[in-house]
Amino acid sequence: MKRSPNDLAILGGMAAFREPLHVGRPNIGDREYLMALLQDMFDRRWLTNDGPFVIEFERRIAMMLGVRHCVATCNATVALEIAARAAGFTGEVIVPSFTFIATAHALQWQGITPVFCDIDPDTHNIDPDRIEALITPRTSGIIGVHLWGRACNVEAIERIAHRYGLGVIYDAAHAFGCTHRGKPIGSAGRAEIFSFHATKFLNAFEGGAVVTNDDELAGKIRLMKNFGFDGVDQVVYIGTNGKMAETSAAMGLTSLERIDHFTAVNRENHDRYRNGLRDIPGISMLTYAQGETYNYHYVVLEINEEQAGLSRDTLCAILRAENVLARRYFYPGCHRMEPYRSYFPHAGLLLPETERLTTRVLSLPTGTAVGTEHIEKVCELIHFAIGHAPAVIQAMA
Ligand SMILES: *Cc1c(COP(=O)(O)O)cnc(C)c1O
Repeated sequence: MKRSPNDLAILGGMAAFREPLHVGRPNIGDREYLMALLQDMFDRRWLTNDGPFVIEFERRIAMMLGVRHCVATCNATVALEIAARAAGFTGEVIVPSFTFIATAHALQWQGITPVFCDIDPDTHNIDPDRIEALITPRTSGIIGVHLWGRACNVEAIERIAHRYGLGVIYDAAHAFGCTHRGKPIGSAGRAEIFSFHATKFLNAFEGGAVVTNDDELAGKIRLMKNFGFDGVDQVVYIGTNGKMAETSAAMGLTSLERIDHFTAVNRENHDRYRNGLRDIPGISMLTYAQGETYNYHYVVLEINEEQAGLSRDTLCAILRAENVLARRYFYPGCHRMEPYRSYFPHAGLLLPETERLTTRVLSLPTGTAVGTEHIEKVCELIHFAIGHAPAVIQAMA
């Protein structure tokens, strides 16, 4: 390799990329298709409140996932809030700490205490063997998260929930287009929640959905997302404004048209990273199970500092200086963020795997904005940094 240690940007060299390479740059479908939908929308003057695009988006999602109901929302955070409330969650709810902060905030926002559970270090998902010890008389439910699009251990979670009479909902924000035991993720528990935020696999600018096979719950959620209105002048619940706008549904429909293309690109990127990063000491890449379908939306590395000779944070700093804006998802864990850090200052003692993993993971840029040549260069950089770790660290000191 020709790069010398002081060619690295962190040591004053030129950055490998002139334009920053981001994690989560949006996948954008056919613009003309979107523009045509927006023209229809303006012609109709129907911009929100269950417009035809929202109805069609909900119908398509429900059909794809094989569920009875899909209620589209303005985002997944509000969808989680509504689902937790509609499912009757109160008191305490058990959630993994290794997730995006919205999973915890959606509970705390309505005065429900998120009780953080540790993860299985192999899957990064909530460890069902650690749930039971966290159940108290105040526990009302569990939120499982299908992190990186890989289903959490739904069967074990449901068994525990059944034994203790707890409700279960799933945060499936990462898992649109992924399967569990060959079936589309979306029909487990009382409800599952998807995100269609711009950075997610299927993008509706902002957006989310609650999907469920429970008719009564679906009806309640439908009213709650519209202030609790049941008819023109009648309000029957505390509701919120969780409605999806027609513009978002139009974008969601546009994204749905290209979903096979997005998956193919992600998959190819994933394979290219895997080839480029194999056999680098201390670097392992998250794998996906055989026989399931995935969206391959996340490229997640684990860095073992002892073997790599560099810490995750050092590698992240090196890459960022090269304009590769890798992200430390989900550092430092919800339990180390406010207000949870103040409420439960010792929560980390019960979360050894989460604490360990948050110092080791790194997400790399992928998606349709990232090309083959970008990925090869990123892999070369990682190869180089780790191959020259002692010299790089010495030069950085
Ligand atoms: C993105 C995300 C959310 C929140 O989704 P929004 O649509 O942005 O509100 C919730 N949970 C997880 C795991 C996420 O990644």
